[in-house]
Amino acid sequence: MIKNINGLHHVTSMAGDALENNVFFTNTLGLRRVKKTVNFDSPDTYHLYYGDEVGTPGSVMTYFPFANMAKGRRGTGEVGTTEFAVPKGALDFWKERLGNYGVTGLKDTTFLGENRLQFDGPDGDGFALVEADAQGRTPWTGTDVPKYAGILGFHGARLMLRDAAATGELLGFMGYQKDETDGSVTRYRMENGNGADTIDLEELPSARPAGQGAGSVHHIAFAVDDRAAQLEVRKLLMDTGYQVTPVIDRDYFWAIYFRTPGGILFEVATNEPGFNRDEDTRHLGEALKLPHRYEPLRPQIEALLPEIPA
Ligand code: ZN
Repeated sequence: MIKNINGLHHVTSMAGDALENNVFFTNTLGLRRVKKTVNFDSPDTYHLYYGDEVGTPGSVMTYFPFANMAKGRRGTGEVGTTEFAVPKGALDFWKERLGNYGVTGLKDTTFLGENRLQFDGPDGDGFALVEADAQGRTPWTGTDVPKYAGILGFHGARLMLRDAAATGELLGFMGYQKDETDGSVTRYRMENGNGADTIDLEELPSARPAGQGAGSVHHIAFAVDDRAAQLEVRKLLMDTGYQVTPVIDRDYFWAIYFRTPGGILFEVATNEPGFNRDEDTRHLGEALKLPHRYEPLRPQIEALLPEIPA
């Protein structure tokens, strides 16, 4: 069994308009943009990262905005809801704020005793704010969202699956403990994780499969401390029969990817080196950062990308 995963690292989704995406996550939700770079496989597209002050693993929501992408169709085989943790008592603030900002899909719910506020992202992305213990995490304070309500990082994610059994088994192998079931949803929890500790599996046997597009999660990444731990995880997954990519350098972390039985793409990413490896923490996310191989093409790349304010 794998012992060195510490919860989520980041969640990566696709968006339509880059500017709208940037405004939603920085202004409406009050996250910090911690990196402005490009899709390493398609450098005419941004890769935008939002999180806490330094982009602590477990807080990082990332986006590939494709200007003319059609919206995704929700269904099974995808991450249905990405959940952010907020301090206890913060949901009244958020209900009013998101309402004032015209955010759609607002809905109060509870799950396993936790208060949740569901809402839609700019492309219909499925999100929820969940009241949770801070576990030592602090929100980004360079925003008008007050500290008592600020987003602490991820709480977890809810996966929508036609059949949850094989994914449940995989999560157990990855070190998650099976927790309670409520209706069609079963919770898996990482003990002593980084705070982004829960994965909920929602089983929907008769729902149609998702179609990926703007507002869909592209992949979900789990955190390991370093490259040695990542190689260990890679070997254990491959010994169990998973097809895992080689280690890929993403400049701010190293990544491996594998497709899960339910169809969702999982990544395992290192906590090292982090987002301040090439920028001062005070100015994180302001300048366009390019991987070395694209640096000679900077003028052409900049000309293709819509301008996003610092
Ligand atoms: Zn990723």
